[in-house]
Amino acid sequence: MDLKSKIREINDFPKEGISFKDITTLLKDGESFRFCIDKIVEDLKEKKVGIVVGPEARGFLMGTPVAYALGAGFVPVRKPGKLPAETVKYEYDLEYGKDCLEIHKDAIVKGQRVAIVDDLLATGGTIEATAKLIESLGGQVVAIEFLIELEFLKGRERLKDYHVNSLIKY
Ligand code: 5GP
Repeated sequence: MDLKSKIREINDFPKEGISFKDITTLLKDGESFRFCIDKIVEDLKEKKVGIVVGPEARGFLMGTPVAYALGAGFVPVRKPGKLPAETVKYEYDLEYGKDCLEIHKDAIVKGQRVAIVDDLLATGGTIEATAKLIESLGGQVVAIEFLIELEFLKGRERLKDYHVNSLIKY
């Protein structure tokens, strides 16, 4: 299936020089959306995943159907101040400034096998932070799955200790 043709590229969004990969055009195509979720599920099938973690916001869209298909739980990782119960935080560096992600403290049980699912791998900062949060709770990150990988940004090198899979590469 030609998945790349379903991704819309928007130039100079959210700022000049960036070619944004818009996944909404793939999501609204039922056959393509199902194909992608099935591919991710297939890669995770033998990994005995107990929890799927998805970072806000497009990680929710990709992660929840994967969790449902595996019969696993879903745990959201969110921007600060969004999760209602007690959280742990992880602050990480961006090109300009800092960002922070949170997870509920009781979201993952020690030793639980966790898969992270997100829409796109760029520099890997978001997913590295997500993995750190999971590991700080004692979870074991057994796989990381993306719809899209921007290979020229070399995010995979940052995640070299993990099993990383992506469906569409630029
Ligand atoms: P990273 O932390 O790997 O540098 O950036 C990845 C995060 O930024 C992902 O959570 C992803 O949703 C978002 N992101 C960055 N660039 C794009 C893009 O071109 N398209 C989409 N859909 N998301 C992007």
